Amino acid sequence: MKIGRSLLYPALAGVLAACSASAGQEPDSPAAAPAGAIVTPTSALAASAAVEQVVQPPAEGTAVDPPAPPAAATAPEAPVQPSTSHVALKYLIGDIDPASDPMFARIPEKYLGGSRVWGHRDAVDAFVRMAENAAANGYKLKIVSAFRSFSDQKKIWEDKWSGKTLVGGKKLNVSVPDPKARALKILEFSSMPGTSRHHWGTDFDINALDNNYFNNTREGKRVYDWLVQHATTYGFCQVYTKKGEESGRTTGYEEEKWHWSYRPVADWYLKQYPVDVGYERLTGFEGAATAKDINVIANYVQGIDPECKQ
Ligand SMILES: [Zn+2]
Repeated sequence: MKIGRSLLYPALAGVLAACSASAGQEPDSPAAAPAGAIVTPTSALAASAAVEQVVQPPAEGTAVDPPAPPAAATAPEAPVQPSTSHVALKYLIGDIDPASDPMFARIPEKYLGGSRVWGHRDAVDAFVRMAENAAANGYKLKIVSAFRSFSDQKKIWEDKWSGKTLVGGKKLNVSVPDPKARALKILEFSSMPGTSRHHWGTDFDINALDNNYFNNTREGKRVYDWLVQHATTYGFCQVYTKKGEESGRTTGYEEEKWHWSYRPVADWYLKQYPVDVGYERLTGFEGAATAKDINVIANYVQGIDPECKQ
């Protein structure tokens, strides 16, 4: 039961983002060993310089009026309106290096459970606040996957496509020779390169890439119940809920109880995605020719829980 998501972001401000990460495992396979991480705060000013047009994020929704500037000092320029702001294409498809992009921040090591260490800085901040509150109440939250670049996702995808990574215990190149059917099989839990919300740095996989952990272990059940009750407060939403009448989600990936998205940034990206990313952009990986036939943008990128769109 998820509630009240629609009230969180009245002024969905602009934050531009995306990130990248180290190599590692993804959906279907547990993450690799934790990587050493250092918290590297990034200044808003530095981040601003990195984007074409900058709209300051509504620092976590609880904006406080800044102190008045000295009289007649340099008058600030009028803020850029979100309606005219623009997320560069590279952020939508993960064509960036988060280590050198001030829009990204490292996830503190204490909250890392995998090798992907980067996230959109606002999403990381919000996650840390959520995890601290969870810890204070006896719940451990760790990020097992975060930002993934286009090339990260290409490797995950092609390893499944080629049979190098088994899917459901099978080599798909052998068991599913038809390209469209093979793509659909991979799409149960993994995104095509260029279409993953993990490209944005706004989405985190929490604790385990396995519904069984959340359904059938005491710890997993407790954590999931806590997330359902509290994640919204911090801006996070479970985008890949169980498909069907109850959720109203009819297309896209199978249920992923581990995947939570930071809406104050991700909503904006999702809105812009179909405007700027067409099928001509979804190229450069094996099986790319199936993308249009599958209608992967409408059915998968936009195939999220309706409550996460309100
Ligand atoms: Zn995920």
